[in-house]
Amino acid sequence: MSDMALISRKGSALVREIHEKQKRDKSRQRFWELAGSKLGDILGVEKSVDEIDADTVVVGEDGEVDFKGKARFSQHLAVSDFTKSKTISQQRQNLPIFSVRDELLQVVRENQVVVIIGETGSGKTTQLTQYLYEYGYTVNGIIGCTQPRRVAAMSVAKRVSEEMESELGDKVGYAIRFEDATGPSTVIKYMTDGVLLRETLKDPDLEKYSIILMDEVHERSLDTDVLFGILKKVVARRRDFKLIVTSATLNGEKFSNFFGGIPIFHIPGRTFRVQICYSKTPCEDYVEAAIKQAMTIHITGAPGDILIFLTGQDEIAATCYALSERMEQLISSTKQPVPKLLILPIYSQLPADLQAKIFQKAEDGARKCIVATNIAETSLTIDGIFYVIDTGYGKMKVYNPRMGMDALQVFPISRASADQRAGRAGRTGPGTCYRLYTENAYENEMLQSSVPEIQRTNLGNVVLLLKSLQIQNLLDFDFTDPPPQDNILNSMYQLWLLGALNDVGDLMDLGRKMVKFPLDPALAKLLLMGEQLECLNEVLTIVSMLSVPSVFFRPKDREAESDAAREKFFVPESDHLTLLNVYQQWKANEYRGDWCNDHFLQVKGLYKAREVRSQLLDILKTLKIPLTYCGPDWDVVRKTICSAYFHNAAMLKGIGEYVNCRNRMPCNLHPTSALYGLGYTPDYVVYNEAILTTKEYMQCVTAVEPHWLAELGPMLFSM
Ligand code: ADP
Ligand code: MG
Repeated sequence: MSDMALISRKGSALVREIHEKQKRDKSRQRFWELAGSKLGDILGVEKSVDEIDADTVVVGEDGEVDFKGKARFSQHLAVSDFTKSKTISQQRQNLPIFSVRDELLQVVRENQVVVIIGETGSGKTTQLTQYLYEYGYTVNGIIGCTQPRRVAAMSVAKRVSEEMESELGDKVGYAIRFEDATGPSTVIKYMTDGVLLRETLKDPDLEKYSIILMDEVHERSLDTDVLFGILKKVVARRRDFKLIVTSATLNGEKFSNFFGGIPIFHIPGRTFRVQICYSKTPCEDYVEAAIKQAMTIHITGAPGDILIFLTGQDEIAATCYALSERMEQLISSTKQPVPKLLILPIYSQLPADLQAKIFQKAEDGARKCIVATNIAETSLTIDGIFYVIDTGYGKMKVYNPRMGMDALQVFPISRASADQRAGRAGRTGPGTCYRLYTENAYENEMLQSSVPEIQRTNLGNVVLLLKSLQIQNLLDFDFTDPPPQDNILNSMYQLWLLGALNDVGDLMDLGRKMVKFPLDPALAKLLLMGEQLECLNEVLTIVSMLSVPSVFFRPKDREAESDAAREKFFVPESDHLTLLNVYQQWKANEYRGDWCNDHFLQVKGLYKAREVRSQLLDILKTLKIPLTYCGPDWDVVRKTICSAYFHNAAMLKGIGEYVNCRNRMPCNLHPTSALYGLGYTPDYVVYNEAILTTKEYMQCVTAVEPHWLAELGPMLFSM
């Protein structure tokens, strides 16, 4: 195995150490968690339980440093204050895309489909839609722009609505799953590619759009790739429809050829040289190495903001924590003034208001250090970055045949990604990129470009969708890069197990209904079985709770207290029923926020669940499916859960040890499960998914009767 692959398996010792430390170090936790603290006040973090996950910190406010003869800090770390001093219209005119505005509009006018290639930050996402609007493309329909990432859809819509001086949701809006911020006057709609894909179910010709901009196609997300095939058909059917495909990398030919050799338009770049520095030896702990590098740059480097690429939320939180700690140590160990460092995390689960902070200019010339996932690779453009620290890793969703499901795993990035990351340092002036891996790893261990998602993930949803679009033979569908046949067949097998497809692979009635819900196949089936077994009301709540991040709140310095609060909600035989119980109690307490705070529940999460619930209820109404209630006897709810998850059944093997009934893989109860350590271990359980951390854990577990398995999953179990 290559060095990089080995290192990614091991994970960071520093991240583990910081987790331990955070548990012990109470004063820092409060500092870190911000709400109610001085720093929290500075940042405007409100003191409410649900906001405590805010984690933006400013350090180095006062104190001094002894340089011991090293390069001195510059007096002013004020990088070009471009964004602050220029009006929005001046900023717009300064973007590279502005110089080719007229040529672009001409190419679009003369062609039905165009590929546009331009460096990240050239203005493709924020400007193109506005040019099209200004030119009049919204007279007979609206402009749609798809993004592979939710965060990008929201953040860009916000920016463009500001540029157009219109409220978000008015002229410019966005739509992501379970969240529609558009209105009757919306003419520019940003959305995830998944949202547009689902719209084709209702309106196969996408009549309401005059033009669609498929953005960031180089990311090759699963939904983008499926949309390609579908939009190609729309283009053939509607002469009044236009399609623009944009990419940040130079592989435009592939997309051009797919649409029959359409023109490729290049936006002239304006980038500066980026010096690349490789690590001499492989980094054992890339998190530790990234922190050291950032500190070195801050202390000795010329002005300019820093961007660090890590793999996920855990590493980002640990890095922010360690950076703030080291800055404090620096301040307390010296009498010299220490310049400020503004540490800003960005990842997809970060609340939107905190995400927006990465775009703000640091005050008083402080240096910004942005700690990001690969979301900052091409989706979001941050000005003023002069230093990039690239760890060389990223998370990717891959189908794991051992677990029989998709899992996010850490992988070495591709050379194409590494080059994109480096490019972030050269937007405002010549920059430097520190690669925390060897040149040899770059040349010989990294792939040229990443494997498209469609070739590495489960295709259950895609198969259902294409089947309901009357595409009979999926192996014949027009894919840019067809998925391996095994993937399609395996996904079809799983849909057959669920009863969505019949023996010859055609859509059954259940499958036809399942596709109406923006849910994974198993969750959609759970909902529909609630109808059959007459507990739809209860199941609807469970499905909604499963569609939002965990509502249990566990502040770092109040773990025992919050665990006790959580246990009070436990329904000993089921995590699903525990979620139902939480929601029902919240409802009985008039959906109150203070009640959530008292019980260590995330009020935002519960509100979101309520919102999701009402949206799913709307879909049920359009299908004329009435709500049924089962009352206090929840056994039938467990049986319903069994009917949707029997393919994930496990049987007891030892104390707290289960094995998957199908493949005998060991799977464990997670310590946060309601079934854990209560002295009650049922013989058979089903679970939503397996997660692999230190070992394989079952997530969201419910005890079931063995005869239910035989009754509901006869193709897998017999008496
Ligand atoms: P591209 O899509 O070509 O990568 P964008 O249109 O996203 O480029 O960005 C163009 C410019 O708009 C960026 O350089 C940045 O200055 C500005 N910008 C984009 N999003 C925001 C935002 N949310 N806040 C402030 N400025 C932004
Ligand atoms: Mg863009």
